[in-house]
Amino acid sequence: MKCSRDGNFSKGELQRFGNIELSPSAGVLNYGQGLFEGLKAYRKEDGSILLFRPEENAQRMRMGAERMCMPSPSIEQFVEAVKATVLANKRWIPPPGKGSLYIRPLLMGSGAVLGLAPAPEYTFLIYVSPVGNYFKEGVAPIHLIVEHELHRATPGGTGGVKTIGNYAAVLKAQSAAKAKGYSDVLYLDCVHKRYLEEVSSCNIFVVKDKIISTPAIKGTILPGITRKSIIDVARSQGFQVMFMLPWRYAQFIENTLILMLVSWMEIVQTYGLVGVNVVEERLVTVDELLDADEVFCTGTAVVVSPVGSITYRGKRVAYGDGGGFGVVSQELYSVLTQLQMGLIEDKMSW
Ligand code: PMP
Repeated sequence: MKCSRDGNFSKGELQRFGNIELSPSAGVLNYGQGLFEGLKAYRKEDGSILLFRPEENAQRMRMGAERMCMPSPSIEQFVEAVKATVLANKRWIPPPGKGSLYIRPLLMGSGAVLGLAPAPEYTFLIYVSPVGNYFKEGVAPIHLIVEHELHRATPGGTGGVKTIGNYAAVLKAQSAAKAKGYSDVLYLDCVHKRYLEEVSSCNIFVVKDKIISTPAIKGTILPGITRKSIIDVARSQGFQVMFMLPWRYAQFIENTLILMLVSWMEIVQTYGLVGVNVVEERLVTVDELLDADEVFCTGTAVVVSPVGSITYRGKRVAYGDGGGFGVVSQELYSVLTQLQMGLIEDKMSW
């Protein structure tokens, strides 16, 4: 699909995968006007196909396009194009449990521009590929190294949108980490060099005493759709506990409405079982990694990956027995993947 600066995209067409033609002075090649998305299609046992929250990707691309001075397809155009591409490539979707079809929508300034300015023309395209696990470890624990010199994003920059340049910024640290045997790099904020940001291609969560914390979205980390989904899943699990406990507690003391209210407040104060306390979105310091019970990463490609160890300034911290998921991450992984594959009822209308 193509459009000029007016933002009206033409109706797209399906083409066989192959090279595309671009002017050497295309905006994307010279000034980095490029955004992409990543989502997956799964095949169910009955043969039907599931897409996981494509509207969220459409919305994120629109947000990113605004930051990058680009027009973007409407949510409906985006989702319709994704569906058409997936249907045309149905045969490449692996059988249930054997992987998924990774879908890569790409929006770029394809028009020619010499002086620094937004491109005069834009192209939106989608390509797909069957995929298995992202890390060679599969769902086994990954090993991260904290990077404190190179940064992927600065406040006020483009770290919060899925623009191509963000990925060029991580290649150096990521290649060095991989050469040393680490799975990936964990970045810190560039101002204090103290707060966790994210991994090269996924978000990070830290669990301590059953409280789940993740860096708040503040413009320098990508608002991951898996991150958001995990927070919703965790909160929904947390709310179940929240409703059950006060009820039992009230019965135990005296079964009156007033006591129920008092005991509710006590419980909330004692255990911090309010929804927002189950998952905290806040500044998470690198020191908190040192005594965390579990650490895990989330992303479309990595789904939920347990972190087996983190190395920070030469010091290595291992989690659990280093052998797999902790209790919290295992639960979240299993609920999320069952929802994604349509194996349990989707009460969140995803
Ligand atoms: N952070 C970065 C930098 C990413 O590239 C990704 C992958 N899109 C994520 C986080 C996770 O986002 P999502 O859950 O939407 O895939």
